[in-house]
Amino acid sequence: MTRRVSRQRPHCPCGLEETYENCCGRFHRGESAAPTAEALMRSRYSAFVKLNEAYLLRTWHPRTRPPGVDLDPGMRWTGLEILGTSDGSAFHGTGTVTFRASFKGGSLHERSRFERVDGAWAYVDGEFFD
Ligand SMILES: [Zn+2]
Repeated sequence: MTRRVSRQRPHCPCGLEETYENCCGRFHRGESAAPTAEALMRSRYSAFVKLNEAYLLRTWHPRTRPPGVDLDPGMRWTGLEILGTSDGSAFHGTGTVTFRASFKGGSLHERSRFERVDGAWAYVDGEFFD
């Protein structure tokens, strides 16, 4: 959970010991939907790393979805740490994921709220710390 992404290893950007293709890539390609709020959170972090704006918008709740995401290609994401979750499993309709996303020069500490939209997890909004 607290493993850092290393460029030398075939880890998914989200930090799991899987290749990107077999991890978040499956969600990005639309082959399957993230089964839990945490999986969606991880795949959205990977989408930031991969500059995949379409996926970020697709997984944003229609109620809070912005017209676009300003992705900065110069941003160097260095790792994702999941600090805690509540609900967000296959049996829930809502959930939260607290995480720290690190980038060169700083980090983002957030508790994100997720809700299901037509069965699929969607990002609603986040509360920021620090
Ligand atoms: Zn992943």
